[in-house]
Amino acid sequence: VAKERNRGVAVYDASEDAHDPGRLALLTELRRAIDQRELVLHYQPKISLPTGEVSGVEALVRWEHPRRGMVPPDRFIPLAEHTGLIGPLTRYVLDVALRQARRWLDEGHPLPIAVNLAARNLADPDLCDDVLRLLDEHGVPANLLCLELTESAITTEPEHALHLMTRLRAAGISLAVDDFGTGYTSLAQLKNLPITELKIDRTFVGTMTVERSNGLIVRAIVDLARNLGLTTVAEGVEDADTFTALASNGCAVAQGYHMSRPLPADAFDRWYAETRAV
Ligand code: C2E
Ligand code: CA
Ligand code: CA
Ligand code: CA
Repeated sequence: VAKERNRGVAVYDASEDAHDPGRLALLTELRRAIDQRELVLHYQPKISLPTGEVSGVEALVRWEHPRRGMVPPDRFIPLAEHTGLIGPLTRYVLDVALRQARRWLDEGHPLPIAVNLAARNLADPDLCDDVLRLLDEHGVPANLLCLELTESAITTEPEHALHLMTRLRAAGISLAVDDFGTGYTSLAQLKNLPITELKIDRTFVGTMTVERSNGLIVRAIVDLARNLGLTTVAEGVEDADTFTALASNGCAVAQGYHMSRPLPADAFDRWYAETRAV
């Protein structure tokens, strides 16, 4: 596995960071953290709006740093992307997420699990094979895995994105366009992508009940997605009003602090057991 993980690690370019010792230190530590399995996943439920049931989870990476404390992904994912560490990092996250998916399967309540891909992953020629191998190793059916690609990643790497997405989808993996509404994907592009899900960015969802224009944007995206046969997921649902408004707009799935923050696996399991007991 160590050999696998080292594949695709780019040589560090000192010139890029020459003036930022903090960044260099973080990079050195991140490389070690992946090997030491210091990165952990938190799980946030996706809730079906018509039924209120948990329809799946999104895995979100955090770095439990021995001295710096909990480092959020926004601090180290961009760094990993700039240095080629994103390849090993993504494979590590997939490995942990699929092990968890297998656990839920064994416990008798299979949960679809979503993992985020970075823009740089789209051009990785081995990624698809490695994803399929990991599914196989963990004995997780492909339809329990969803990969989330941001709208901006797809538009920066359109050819690579289409090629990779076509292969992943053919294998039965679900594909979501993340942060939808923040980029410039045309309707024509969207129609030609082999996707299953649109995730409406939380900048629209968060203020949809107080800013009329954002409410209209959310409704337009929900209608668009329905016409294209896609599942719509609203992210950043922070209150009951937003939850209700989304349900009446015909949005399929909601995700946000109102239902649950991303939780470590054991806390998620307790939360999930409680929701099922109700
Ligand atoms: P994202 O994929 O859009 O993930 C949703 C982010 O919104 C998460 O932040 C989540 O904790 C946060 N969130 C969820 N519900 C709410 C809410 O109701 N209100 C607000 N204000 N925020 C909410 P997080 O975990 O800090 O992740 C930030 C970003 O880092 C993610 O955005 C994703 O782009 C990236 N990321 C996280 N994990 C991974 C990973 O394993 N691989 C890659 N490539 N990127 C990751
Ligand atoms: Ca996401
Ligand atoms: Ca998002
Ligand atoms: Ca985001």
